[in-house]
Amino acid sequence: MSDSIRSILKKNNLSVTDSRLHILELFYNAKGALAHSDIEKQTGEEIDRVTIYRTLQTFEEKGIIHTIPTADNSVKYALCKDRCEEGHHHDNHVHFICDHCGKTICLDDVLVPEVKLPKGFEPHQSNMVVTGSCNICK
Ligand SMILES: [Zn+2]
Ligand SMILES: [Zn+2]
Ligand SMILES: [Zn+2]
Repeated sequence: MSDSIRSILKKNNLSVTDSRLHILELFYNAKGALAHSDIEKQTGEEIDRVTIYRTLQTFEEKGIIHTIPTADNSVKYALCKDRCEEGHHHDNHVHFICDHCGKTICLDDVLVPEVKLPKGFEPHQSNMVVTGSCNICK
C-alpha cells in the first residue's frame, strides 16, 4: 500500500514526507470524500493544521485530489482518477451526499450534464451535488 502511495508522490515530483504519505493513505482508505476536519481527527497531534492545509493544496494543484463544494460552504476532497494532471482536472462527475450517513461520494461514472448557457457566457467548470440516501443506507 505505502509503496503505491510513494510512487504517486514520485510521479508528481513531490518529495516523500511522512505527512504526505499519511494524508494520501487516508484518502485511499476512505470510502468517500474527506473534509479538512476529518483528516485532522484521523491524524491527531501528528500533523498540524497548516501542514494539512498545504498538503491538500499541493495535492489539488498536482491533480491528485479534487474539491467538492458542500451545502454548508465548506469543502471536501476526494481522490482523482488517472485522467487528472497537474493544473488540469477532469472531474466532471456528479457528487452524492447521503442524508443519513453524511458521506460524500464520487459517482465517477455519472457525468454532470452539459448546461446550455446564454450567448456570451462560457462555462469553465460546473458542479453537481445530489443528496439522498446512499446504497448502504437505503
Ligand atoms: Zn481531478
Ligand atoms: Zn449513507
Ligand atoms: Zn469526485
